Amino acid sequence: MSVRVRFAPSPTGFLHIGGLRTALYNYLFARHHGGTFVLRIEDTDQNRYVEGAEHDIITSLEWAGMTIDEGPHKPGDVGPYRQSERKEMYHKYAKQLVDDGHAYYAFDTTEEIDEMRERLKKSGNPSPSYDSITRQSMKNSLTLPQDEVEKRLAAGDEYVIRLKVPRRETVKFEDLVRGIVSFETAGLDDQVLMKSDGMPTYHLANVVDDHTMGITHVIRGEEWLSSAPKHMLLYKAFGWEPPTMAHLPLIMSPSGGKLSKRKAESEGIPINTKDYIIGNYEPNALINFLAYLGWSPGDDSEIHSMEELCKLFTLDRVSKGGAVFNHKKLMWYNEHYIRESSVEELLVRVKILMQDAGFEVVDDNYLKTVIELLHDRVSKVDEFVSMGAFFYQAPEEYDPNALKKWKDDSAGFVKAYQAKIEEFSEEDFVAANLKSALEETVSENEVGFGKVMMPVRIATTGQGFGPDLFASLELLGKQETLNRIDKALEKLN
Ligand code: GLU
Repeated sequence: MSVRVRFAPSPTGFLHIGGLRTALYNYLFARHHGGTFVLRIEDTDQNRYVEGAEHDIITSLEWAGMTIDEGPHKPGDVGPYRQSERKEMYHKYAKQLVDDGHAYYAFDTTEEIDEMRERLKKSGNPSPSYDSITRQSMKNSLTLPQDEVEKRLAAGDEYVIRLKVPRRETVKFEDLVRGIVSFETAGLDDQVLMKSDGMPTYHLANVVDDHTMGITHVIRGEEWLSSAPKHMLLYKAFGWEPPTMAHLPLIMSPSGGKLSKRKAESEGIPINTKDYIIGNYEPNALINFLAYLGWSPGDDSEIHSMEELCKLFTLDRVSKGGAVFNHKKLMWYNEHYIRESSVEELLVRVKILMQDAGFEVVDDNYLKTVIELLHDRVSKVDEFVSMGAFFYQAPEEYDPNALKKWKDDSAGFVKAYQAKIEEFSEEDFVAANLKSALEETVSENEVGFGKVMMPVRIATTGQGFGPDLFASLELLGKQETLNRIDKALEKLN
């Protein structure tokens, strides 16, 4: 039997980073086994539906390098791939459960259910629910005479369909991450399967779809573990073989606790995949990082391409304990993938970013040198723009922090240096000569290297740090360098 897995997000907002990791583990598992990766949109909750969310999910997965084999935009044989388009199917299966005695119609109003809860609370039951005991005193197809049930259905009375959860049963299954999981049905209520608005609940739709879509493995976040026993009961009621389960560990915030949207925000961690796209992160860095957020190949290797991850990934190496989101580690990966990119690859991207920032890029070779000079200094591609802006624009302001190093004697040293480099012909205006000139200035004035170098750097770049100064001046060219020094001497004196 070939592996079929699904990523089944609800379109309730932008795809967050936890969802992306769930999708990734499904994708890696599918590819590892030569299986199929399905995208199913779980949009039965109309109140929480967000326009554009499906599009965001698909573009996010594509950006991250996951090819969807079947989905709403790429139908296979088991569609539709949006739950809202599968309503009839859920009706049919819910009815089948009622006919087979595993589910029932319940006509109780909200008030009647509240009343039941109040009554039971008063008699000492702290958490009363609609279950195997209380259902006996409620208005449902198990307690009402058959003809009244039919009359109510025919009259279009509001009803829900509930699962008839057995009174005392132990539900056991093997989870590939957590081992044997066991639940007592005594703690479960008679789960609603069909809501009064004619929509299925998550539980029914999820089980019907996983079965009818031929899903072999359900790989999802730990927050769904408590739903699994209800799903197991449903599989049993239908007489279907359940898929193999694997519940992934939670993603934790560095300060402890689940990485919620609020926590992420307060800790400076982008939460939506979209933020990483807009934030110019490297997709293969994010993927590599997320793969290790709850999994490891069992050795000390850390850098792997998507292709390698597909080969390496197995569920038995997924950890049970929560995985802490370490943004520094992500930046370490990002930096690595920037280093790995060729200057040619970077050129295309940096050119666009430079233009977006309002710089005119007329000479690709010039930009190429800028990229070479900054290549091992940046950890995110947009830093080529922030760190390289001075190659395109003379400083208007000088970094106040750097200016702390501009002393009373600085202007004199800069002037002395300027006098030397003015003498160079255009051809001689190269890094090696520019450096010798600075060394001469240093020794003639009997001061430390930094005493001259720093003010020259500030005058020409506006900053106290940056790429190799002499190579930078060579690239700026003689005229531009001299102009900048003139302007700085004027402004800073
Ligand atoms: N629709 C659920 C979600 O939003 C799917 C959970 C599952 O994979 O069963 O994550």
